[in-house]
Amino acid sequence: LQAGVWRRGGEAATWFGVPDGDFTLTSGDVEAYLYIADSGGKLYRNFCPVCGCRLFTDRLDSFPGLVFVQLGSLDDPGTITPKLEMFVKRRLPWVKSLGLPEFSEMPH
Ligand SMILES: [Zn+2]
Repeated sequence: LQAGVWRRGGEAATWFGVPDGDFTLTSGDVEAYLYIADSGGKLYRNFCPVCGCRLFTDRLDSFPGLVFVQLGSLDDPGTITPKLEMFVKRRLPWVKSLGLPEFSEMPH
């Protein structure tokens, strides 16, 4: 289990990875949006068709077998603490470092 803070434009989002066999959607529907990453690999961003919030990302070419869940979509997001920051090249000048290991892009 690894939680990381992604940055894109001004938006920062916190995610954690789980093996897809350990991931179960317990209620509701999702819609998937196909997205091509900077690497050229495909992934699917899954969002709530009712309110539009992003829930999880799956079927990543670069991370087969993992689902990345958006921390804010959990009922109790305070139970998971980030371990690293990535895409810090996109960090806006007024955002402070979290004091965690930092990666300019996606670490491999
Ligand atoms: Zn919703």
